Amino acid sequence: MSDWTAEPSTLYVVATPIGNLSDLSVRAHDVLCSVTWVAAEDTRHTRKLMAHLGSAANLRSLHRGNEARTTSALIRSLRSGASGALVSDAGTPLVSDPGRWLVEAALREGIAVVPLPGPCAVVAALSVAGLDAARFVFEGFLPARAPARRRRLAELAGETRTWAVYEAPHRIRALAQDLKVELEADRQVVWVRELSKQHEQVWRGPVEELDPERIPELGEFVVVVEGAREEVGIPDETLDAFLGPLLEAGVGVRTAAALARDCLGATHKAAYARALALKR
Ligand code: SAM
Repeated sequence: MSDWTAEPSTLYVVATPIGNLSDLSVRAHDVLCSVTWVAAEDTRHTRKLMAHLGSAANLRSLHRGNEARTTSALIRSLRSGASGALVSDAGTPLVSDPGRWLVEAALREGIAVVPLPGPCAVVAALSVAGLDAARFVFEGFLPARAPARRRRLAELAGETRTWAVYEAPHRIRALAQDLKVELEADRQVVWVRELSKQHEQVWRGPVEELDPERIPELGEFVVVVEGAREEVGIPDETLDAFLGPLLEAGVGVRTAAALARDCLGATHKAAYARALALKR
């Protein structure tokens, strides 16, 4: 047992395991055993972790339904010299999880807010996806309703950075189906399931090989998608030199534009506009 003691009037924001309890850091262990209270999303869930650690800290419930009300009481406690830790059911608090009210209120009150870095499903997924993770976009959960989800996916389809979403097991097949509609066949997709748990699974491949029916509708998922290829700006003269002879030979505008896209790497929009202008 460490003799480390939490600082008074300090809020620690503590990442906890997303599956494997051994992923809890030594420092997180010290904090959770030393603070006055631990604010948890689901106290029944966190009680098991606290028992595993042998922590006697007072458990306080902080979820979306009571965040505003409970935050005031926790802030008063911190101001009077207590130390507190914020955890969620799994992973890093505030990342698609509650806690924003408490962190914002603590910062407003000039209370020290100290991060305890650790597990986070989207970061773990990116680390094994095999896609560019130097810059990425995290969308959290997409809308649950199909039309809104498809609209959002249509917007994301043009995103040039790698992007990632969380998805519930009962919607994972519908999401995969939507990806097949919205993305090009050769776009790389990675889905990871149950990271750091017994049935951990990672699938990587192009959209055309993504088979919704073969994804188990069980467990926790992160889906990571390769960004759209950067549009290559083709000069008008190059497009004209390519499109002109085709149009003169009687090739239709749409077909000529498609050929320019495939042969020159022009966007369909740019090639179509140029072909139309030449035709006129
Ligand atoms: N705060 C958490 C974090 O830092 O990752 C995320 C909380 S969010 C409410 C829960 C979602 O995270 C799950 O529905 C799933 O999409 C993803 N997730 C959590 N644990 C996971 C795991 N072990 N493997 C894959 N995805 C996981």
